[in-house]
Parts: sequence; C-alpha cells; structure tokens
Amino acid sequence: MSDPAPPGEFELIRRYFAPLAVGFPGAFNLLDDAAVLAPSLGHELVVTTDALIEGVHFLPDDPPDLIARKSLRVNLSDLAAKGARPRAYLLNLCLPPTATGAWIGSFARGLAKDQTAFGIHLIGGDTCKTPGPLTLAITAMGEVMEGAMIRRSGARPGDDLWVTGTIGDAALGLAVRRNALPGAGPKDRKFLVERYRCPEPRVAIGHRLVGVASAGMDVSDGLVQDLGHICSVSRVGAVVQAALVPLSAPVRRAVERDPGRFFDVVGGGDDYEILFTAPPQLGATVLDFAAAADVQVTRIGSIVAGSGVSVLDGAGQEMRIERAGFRHF
Ligand code: ADP
Ligand code: MG
Repeated sequence: MSDPAPPGEFELIRRYFAPLAVGFPGAFNLLDDAAVLAPSLGHELVVTTDALIEGVHFLPDDPPDLIARKSLRVNLSDLAAKGARPRAYLLNLCLPPTATGAWIGSFARGLAKDQTAFGIHLIGGDTCKTPGPLTLAITAMGEVMEGAMIRRSGARPGDDLWVTGTIGDAALGLAVRRNALPGAGPKDRKFLVERYRCPEPRVAIGHRLVGVASAGMDVSDGLVQDLGHICSVSRVGAVVQAALVPLSAPVRRAVERDPGRFFDVVGGGDDYEILFTAPPQLGATVLDFAAAADVQVTRIGSIVAGSGVSVLDGAGQEMRIERAGFRHF
C-alpha cells in the first residue's frame, strides 16, 4: 500500500528507528531523552560527524536506502581513518513536508543493512520538519586504545605514502550522472555511479593501522587537497608519483581516452579511501595487514622535508594541478 504522509514524530521514531537501536542496551529503545555509552576499558571514544544536504551531496531522485548508507559510510570512513572500531551513531533528520513514509522506510532499511555490515548501532537522534531541502547529519562514535587515534599530524620525512582502494571512481561517477563522461561504456558507467553512490569505508583495515600509520585521514575532498592537510598539520611536504595512483579499470580507460581526466581523479571528491603514511621499515607490515583485512593498499609516494604536495609524471616532471579538491566555500 502506498503511504504518502509520514506518521507523527513519535510513531515515526518507534516504527522506523527504534528497531535500529535493538542490541544496544544504552539506547533504551529510543524511549529516553538520551543514550549512555562507555568505551571499553583502556579505550577512548573517537567522535565524528558529517551532514548531507539534498541537492549538494545527493540528488532528489537518489534511492533513499543508498542515501542512508552513504551518510553512514562517510562517517564510518572517518572512524576507520582514525584507527577506530565503530560503536554507535546519532541521526539528525530534517525532513521537508513532502517526505513520505515510504521514503523514510526505505532510508531506515538502508541503515539497517549497513549497521549489520559494519557492526554499529543507532542510539539516538532528532527528527524535525524543515522548509528547506532534506538534510541529515550522522554523528558516529568509535573507539581506540587510549592515546592511539591516528592523527593528521604524525607524518615524517622519509615515510611512505599509502592509499587504500582506488582513487577517482566517485568523481567520474558524478561526471557520468552529469552526462559529462562521453565515451564510457554502460558497464563502466554503472561501476562508477555505484562507487559514487555507495562508497566502501575501509573499516576492516582502519583499526589495524594503529601503531603502524604515522598519520592518516580519509580522502573525501580530493587526494591532492587532503594530502595537503596532512602535510600542513605535520609540517612536511609530499611527493606523489602519478603513475602509482591506483585506478580502477573504468577510470584507467577514461584517462586513456582523455589524459586531462587525471586531474578529476586526483582533484575530485568522494573517494572515502584512507590516505596514510608509515615508516618504510613497516612497509611489509602494511601489506600483511592489508591482506588480512582484504583491502588493497598502494604506495603512491613519500613524505619529504619542506611543504606542499608535488605530483610527478612518468618523466619525473612536476604536474600542475589546477583543481586540488572540493570546497564548500
Ligand atoms: P527531545 O524531546 O529530547 O528532542 P525526542 O522526542 O526528539 O527527544 O526523541 C525521543 C527519542 O528518540 C530520543 O531518545 C532520541 O534520541 C530519539 N530520536 C529522535 N529522532 C531520532 C532519529 N532520527 N534517529 C534516532 N533516534 C531518534
Ligand atoms: Mg527531538
């Protein structure tokens, strides 16, 4: 049966969100004002939040379950990059009057699916009506051993620079959605759009990098720009070998058709891969842990003394990167 109007606020929470709190005693089935959460002995909570706005981070006709999964996944990606294991999350949902029960139901099913996949529970939130576009924010909490959170600040000259997965899939997926990737075949288009709509947070490797990575962050606003953040906070420079940047087959084909696409690859956003540095003597450990986590990792360059990010082409010449990454302002 179609369900045009969402139920009232409390019924909505009871029907769609309370089931997602089952299994987490401190959430009190979302029947209290607040939740309680204690880290395991000797651990600290790592807390991160990300907001998504219709028309900015997703499109009005995107499937609600995928919007839900992406909003949870971008937070899981931050936790993984910090070396944290996921524990719980809060959901703030600002719905326009046009939101239907069917939309919310599908959204909640998306959350349920990824909660199970990544071992995290909904423990609270807020629900309100907005005169603007649909807006949601997730605040996720994970845990690490005391003092062990992987920071942006620990990169040292001589460290290797590593990245998980492949870079540029989402940027080209967005280009497909904007009809701006001519020449890509249907299979490539599908792959790239899926990578844009549903990133893969590297939860399986994140906590293994504690004690191995000297610095790390998740790549969400473009590889070059985000690497620049590690460099400035760590007060070092970085050299990236363009030829080492890991590309999926569809992205490789797009770059072969149009070499200028490489700038979208290293400057586009939404990768949600982990960029991290590690001393060279831990290279074999990085590869072992990556194999244990079943996550691809690739060494793409090095940390050097100085400042700023240089990207070198196959001839060792520095490439001029016009657009380093995404900025809201
Ligand atoms: P308050 O009056 O303090 O804002 P609410 O009535 O909004 O409390 O919320 C009641 C309970 O439902 C609280 O435990 C809150 O965390 C939870 N809740 C409200 N909205 C959501 C949501 N979108 N997702 C998860 N939990 C929610
Ligand atoms: Mg409330």
